[in-house]
Amino acid sequence: MNRSLDEANFSDFIRESFDALPWDPEPDSDFSILSLFHLAKEHCERRGIYVGAIDIDDLNAVAFEHKGSECIGITRGTIEQLHHALGLVASCMKEPFFDAEQPWDDEKRLDATRFRKGRQDELHLSNGQRALWQALMDVSVVFILHHELGHLESGHIYWLQQGLRKNRAALFERPLDHKSNAELLGVDADNITALEVDADTDAVTATLELLDGISYTSDREGNLWLNLLENNDTRYPIVDIAFNIVFVLFSHQTASVESYHGSHPHPDIRGAYCNAGALVYCSQPNQEEALQAYRRWRTSPHLSNFYWEMHYVLKGPYHLQDYLANAKSLSGKINKVTQELWEHSKPIWNNVAEYADERRKKRDSARERK
Ligand SMILES: [Zn+2]
Repeated sequence: MNRSLDEANFSDFIRESFDALPWDPEPDSDFSILSLFHLAKEHCERRGIYVGAIDIDDLNAVAFEHKGSECIGITRGTIEQLHHALGLVASCMKEPFFDAEQPWDDEKRLDATRFRKGRQDELHLSNGQRALWQALMDVSVVFILHHELGHLESGHIYWLQQGLRKNRAALFERPLDHKSNAELLGVDADNITALEVDADTDAVTATLELLDGISYTSDREGNLWLNLLENNDTRYPIVDIAFNIVFVLFSHQTASVESYHGSHPHPDIRGAYCNAGALVYCSQPNQEEALQAYRRWRTSPHLSNFYWEMHYVLKGPYHLQDYLANAKSLSGKINKVTQELWEHSKPIWNNVAEYADERRKKRDSARERK
């Protein structure tokens, strides 16, 4: 990896695509305090992938290859909006966290709604809630980074370039100039949908593996957030909420799932198959405790209320109506809908898998030559 060349290629691409400059966060900014994110970023860099930040207010992330450099970009707006949303969520959580009967404090929820509407200028958070905020923040940004890594390592970008002959092959998480990714690339939206499901699945596994693999130092006061991630009973609800908030922010709700035409899968469907992916991960041998903890959270009696209340806090009553209508129409059918999406995407995944192999071989032999 030639870092200065990759950096120049990254800057060149984001100037052309976003009309933006790279963002270099201040040492004590929301970005620089993300420890797990920096671990995941180092992992990408060891694999020859450049990771940078983009200085715009918009929510977006992108994986691309430009002039021989494979890169991942996350916008400043993504970090700021996640930070704001997750602060609201953390401010409503009752301690000790994730009580199956009532994880949410109703009075604080009302405070958070007022804060979102600008009727209050301060969110009141306890030390525990601040630690939860940090853990949620780190996991959600790591999830986005791993999703983009999936677009590169699972051969998506390489397939767009070599298989479909698209130059400037890039996968953006949000429309650019009001154009969806399928329109920007001139490909069928089903292709993009299949790649998005694949990258989400990669991101679930990679994020849970990272949380399993880090060393936890629980005895230090300042590491309260790390304690929350060490303990299965808090780790899995945090993972579940962090993933879902990413979908709430990145994908938009529609009045009905049927009327949705985005090239990314509908947010409620993304939430459902990521949940299935996490269950599969926790069903591996020696993960019994994790499976129990995750199931306990997912089957807690107030979970569905928890998510609709969260939608209300984050987006207000208008989107809540859509969320509830979709929840009703997907009720009892979500497994079938996910299965159909899976079947529909399989031929594309099989095709892309060959390109993932080819990319890997090419990069391995380039590394050996050095
Ligand atoms: Zn994507």
